[in-house]
Parts: sequence; structure tokens; C-alpha cells
Amino acid sequence: QPDSRIVILGNSGVGKSALVVRFLTNRFIWEYDPTLERTYKHHTFLDEEPTVMEILDTAGQPSPEDSIQQEGNIRWGDGFILVYAINDRHSFESAAALKHQLDHIKKTNVQCMLVGNKMDLLHERHVRTEEGETLAQEMSCAFYETSASDGGEEISEIFYELHRDIKRR
Ligand code: GDP
Ligand code: MG
Repeated sequence: QPDSRIVILGNSGVGKSALVVRFLTNRFIWEYDPTLERTYKHHTFLDEEPTVMEILDTAGQPSPEDSIQQEGNIRWGDGFILVYAINDRHSFESAAALKHQLDHIKKTNVQCMLVGNKMDLLHERHVRTEEGETLAQEMSCAFYETSASDGGEEISEIFYELHRDIKRR
């Protein structure tokens, strides 16, 4: 039985798998199978406690069968990382829609993090940092901008802070 179940949601191609793999291995791999959906068990020592986090990297496609699977994924999760890419406006709009879906399915206040990924692609930016901050406030989620390709402390912080939020609830 894990201490927390974390689900990564967001449009295809925003870097969900890259973020999960960066967190788990501190490596960046350019290509992942975009259709691969899998869970990882992460064993660690957090705040002086042995801790098991289970992480589900989703791979949703827009089809009716997938929306049923997505609903199951949402029911399974204790906390959610909603990812968009800063160079993909459509993925930002999808993140807002996903939060509505979370609230609809979970009913109680949902533990979540809003993450704008690919911040290394500054010259392609289509979503301003302030827009991300504003949306996160509306959603009552914490907000981060990340780059799975550059790495950085904040990627681990997202997972660990979400875990702590889940335990505090
Ligand atoms: P997913 O479909 O959301 O799981 O997205 P992937 O993790 O498979 O990433 C999609 C593509 O974006 C891959 O080619 C990744 O290498 C690339 N990618 C992921 N994160 C970043 C990032 O932070 N910066 C850049 N430049 N590329 C990224
Ligand atoms: Mg993926």
C-alpha cells in the first residue's frame, strides 16, 4: 500500500513522461512512447519517514474509451500534477478543463499542482508566467514552471510537496 498515489495529467507531448523520468532517474530522454501508460513505485526517505509514492504517468488520447480510463485514473489518484507546455496554448486550456473534470469526479477539494513545462523554449513561449499563476490561483493549485530537459530542484519539489499535501489532508 503506497503512502500517496500521484497522477500526471495533460495533453500528449507536453512532457509528462519526461518529468516523471527526470524525477525518478534525474535523466532526460528525448523520445518516449506517447501511448505508454504506466505506474512507478518510488521508495524514498522523506521527512525522516520511509515513504512509498506511486506515480501514474497517463497517456490519454481523445477517444470515448479513454475518457472512461481517465475517470478510473482520477478515482485512483490522491493528488494530481496537471502539465501543459509553455509553447502550446491549447495544452494550457486543456489543463483548466482537466481541473473541472477532477472537481467533478473527486467532489472534495483536490490536491493539485499546475506545471508549465518546456520553459527552456523561451523563444517559443505562448503562455506567460503570470497567466499560469492566475490559473493556478483560480484552481487552488500550486504553480511551477519547469524544464524536464534542463532538470532542476523544482521537479523533485513538485512531487514531494504534493506528497506532503496529500499526507496533511
Ligand atoms: P508526454 O506525451 O506528455 O508524456 O510527453 P513526452 O514526455 O513524451 O515529451 C514529448 C516531447 O517533448 C519529447 O520529444 C520530449 O523529449 C520533449 N520534452 C519534454 N519535456 C521537455 C522540456 O522540458 N523541454 C524540451 N525542449 N523538450 C521537452
Ligand atoms: Mg508520455
